[in-house]
Amino acid sequence: MDAPELPTQYYTFKDCLARQIIARSPSDSSSDVDDAQLDDFSSFLASEVWDILPSTLRDASYETRATVPDLETMSLDNVPPSFSDTLTSYALCPDDDGAETFLRRVLSSYAADVTAPPPPWPSTRTKECELCERDVPLTYHHLIPRSTHAKVLKRKWHPESMINSVAWLCRPCHTAVHRFARTDELARNYYTMQLLLERDEIQRWKSYAAKQRYGVKRG
Ligand SMILES: [Zn+2]
Ligand SMILES: [Zn+2]
Repeated sequence: MDAPELPTQYYTFKDCLARQIIARSPSDSSSDVDDAQLDDFSSFLASEVWDILPSTLRDASYETRATVPDLETMSLDNVPPSFSDTLTSYALCPDDDGAETFLRRVLSSYAADVTAPPPPWPSTRTKECELCERDVPLTYHHLIPRSTHAKVLKRKWHPESMINSVAWLCRPCHTAVHRFARTDELARNYYTMQLLLERDEIQRWKSYAAKQRYGVKRG
């Protein structure tokens, strides 16, 4: 299996499987699945069922959350017997029906994870300016400027979940970013700090700003 080609949802699914395996592993006796095996084992189980999941589930995200099937009633008839047999042989469920319950639990935590809303942006606040890295008073910069939101959504430049992403910048750096490009360009081409930092002009500003005194000095 060529792991890097799989979507991020697959890895979330595998993590949910691993958590369910941990939760089901008998605590009173030594489990058949030790920590070293957990990664291999959850990868194996994930690869056994990933392809038979409906695409609305495999592609699920915050944007598509309304299309996620009902996990209580969704048919699991096509789950390969190897999946149930493996769970049973590792004492992770009592019988075949147990394997279905196991999988529904995994899928419901998976669906909750992948459709979770983006973090409230103030919680991403950093202590230092994300550009010059100085420990100074910060302002927040809408990486996708608010005046462009309607256009961004209409033209599908970015998913709705990204629209309110912010960077925490000191006032001089904030001004520098807005001098660097127009709001449309910021929204379209410089909607992450990484993209901004790739530009020479921004790097030159950064080296300059990092040497300036401003408020509380670092360290
Ligand atoms: Zn700064
Ligand atoms: Zn701004």
